Amino acid sequence: MTTSSPLPDPQLRPQLVPGSAGTGGLVDRHGRTATDLRVSLTDRCNLRCTYCMPPEGLQWLPKVEQLTDDEVVRLVRIGVEHLGIREVRFTGGEPLLRPGLPGIVAATTALLPRPEVSLTTNAVGLSRMAPALAAAGLDRINVSLDTLDRERFTQLTYRDRLPDVLAGLKAAKDAGLTPVKINTVLLRGINEDDAVPLLEYCLEHGYELRFIEQMPLDAHHAWTRGEMVTAEDILAKLTASHTLVPDVEERGAAPAERWLVDGTGLTVGVIASVTRSFCGACDRTRLTADGQIRNCLFAREESDLRFALRSGADDQEIADRWRIATLNKLPGHGIDDPSFLQPSRPMSAIGG
Ligand code: SAM
Ligand code: SF4
Repeated sequence: MTTSSPLPDPQLRPQLVPGSAGTGGLVDRHGRTATDLRVSLTDRCNLRCTYCMPPEGLQWLPKVEQLTDDEVVRLVRIGVEHLGIREVRFTGGEPLLRPGLPGIVAATTALLPRPEVSLTTNAVGLSRMAPALAAAGLDRINVSLDTLDRERFTQLTYRDRLPDVLAGLKAAKDAGLTPVKINTVLLRGINEDDAVPLLEYCLEHGYELRFIEQMPLDAHHAWTRGEMVTAEDILAKLTASHTLVPDVEERGAAPAERWLVDGTGLTVGVIASVTRSFCGACDRTRLTADGQIRNCLFAREESDLRFALRSGADDQEIADRWRIATLNKLPGHGIDDPSFLQPSRPMSAIGG
């Protein structure tokens, strides 16, 4: 693992107000407790999904600003040992681009109490990496796939990589990274007609499909509420050819509403982030690749843990800073509020 990082002057570190943080877990003023940590391992990506990144890419984070592997593992360890984190999901950008990924996963699965460890990926390169990730103890994987049509895939991502993604899915299943889940975002007039073929493909291969409503987190700020394919639209498409029965299993903080398909034990999910927000049950906290804590995908403020980390803060101080960063989590994302402002970082830089 890499260890080198610049060390800022400890004198410059803002001091915590004594007694401001408290002890225990990551609790906000609305009574929610964050136990699910999303860690973005890089802001870079090898695809250019139109709802996420512009074709020319973005201004990538300078390497010196990115947390090293050891820094990532230290923060995850503090989350697990001091703050009650029980689930860790690695994401990005594209997390498979991070050379140290298997080592980071192995260090995370070795923590006590052992967290559930999962990965969200576009699966390009997964056919090669899946065995190493399974050996590192990775529990589950989510693969993003918006179409099974090779031309449309290229149109949607600006890269002709559909065969790699399908090979990656198979490799994940063969390596036992199950249940393999597929995340799909539908765009009006572009891949709406892929909903049913994707469902049938997932039923055939035993993958669990989940549709995600498109959120205003694109780098080019092109999202509009009117153009978005809603959960209702998605369900109308699916029920035209398949029988869906609500899955009565307890949903808890899980964002997906699920339906059993055609009397099989297989389910399809819809994450209606926009039209049926689940903010009231949110249990997430996020760490960006440059060491910022975000208490919400849509937060407009971040808390810098990298600076504290590099200027010699001990675990307790970092845990306190994280607790404070959680307190002011807003009750909801407010997308429908006329005063809503999209966060300045796009999804790829926050960690989806
Ligand atoms: N590159 C990896 C991938 O695509 O799975 C991980 C990062 S990506 C940002 C994580 C998830 O966010 C993907 O499933 C992607 O479809 C989703 N996503 C990206 N932009 C989105 C948007 N504007 N609205 C909804 N989901 C989005
Ligand atoms: Fe890359 Fe994932 Fe964004 Fe697509 S959704 S551009 S794969 S980060």
